[in-house]
Amino acid sequence: MPPTVVRREIGLAGLAVPLVEVTGAADGPTLTVISGVHGCEYAAMAGVRRWLGNLASRELHGRVRAVPVLNVTAFAARSPFVVPEGGKNLNRCFPGDPAGTLADRLAHDTFTRLIATSDALVDVHCGDLVEALQPFTLYEGGPAEERASALAEAYGLPYVIRQSVGPDRAVSGSSSGAAAEAGIPAITAEAGGCGLVEEHAAALHVAGLDRVLGLLGMAAPPAAAGPAVAPTRLGRFLWLRCRGAGWWEPRVAAGERVAEGQALGAVSSLDGAEVREVIVAPTDGVIIFLTSSPAVADDGLLLGLGAR
Ligand SMILES: [Zn+2]
Repeated sequence: MPPTVVRREIGLAGLAVPLVEVTGAADGPTLTVISGVHGCEYAAMAGVRRWLGNLASRELHGRVRAVPVLNVTAFAARSPFVVPEGGKNLNRCFPGDPAGTLADRLAHDTFTRLIATSDALVDVHCGDLVEALQPFTLYEGGPAEERASALAEAYGLPYVIRQSVGPDRAVSGSSSGAAAEAGIPAITAEAGGCGLVEEHAAALHVAGLDRVLGLLGMAAPPAAAGPAVAPTRLGRFLWLRCRGAGWWEPRVAAGERVAEGQALGAVSSLDGAEVREVIVAPTDGVIIFLTSSPAVADDGLLLGLGAR
């Protein structure tokens, strides 16, 4: 029997957010899938939208709850990274605060109403408007680590990064990090970027989500998904920043392997006359993401380096 599909809006922090609930005829886990935590990550949203369209005709065990575009005000404003009201990055606000800014409240309502009542979470991302990236999946240490690691591997992207919970952690307040702390297996899956609706990246997300359904025993993945290729596992995620503002010019591409001491790019004066900073790889690794815009601020984020 095909699943029941209900498309409606859910009120989160007073915003009308699109929600798709797909309930199978047979019992099984509840999987929550969100995308559009960042408002200009279109390849991620496109992948989730397409995957949901395919689900209606499949035999499903359990329930999928999906939000294809969570950060609706950022989407409408074409605002990369942050919620325009208050300027906070929603993916640094989880599990949220009911008395905080719009981003804090949106994180809180999303966490309590969708994430906390799930058996697993997939937060689907890509590089934002000015970010190129090498497809990868991120998960965190913690009580659900083994299951999260299996989900990350199943998603089938070339790199899997385990974030340790501690001072080394590059990102705190993410949806998958907050879920991990609550004991819910969760991953952040990243493919695509630069404000493009890339077909290849959207297809990676569709196949990844299908394999997650297979791993959770919720549906047989369609043949198109294929088996996941074993990823390269990385245990460190170093985010490199510039000291001062200027014109950023990378000398490497996302996905490129680099050696300790290698010049990765430079920040120069806006008139092009003076190189102010050369960014050097602190260790051997692979470029996981890269700021593609030349415009960088003081302490601006330039790139993410994954290392063993
Ligand atoms: Zn993102």
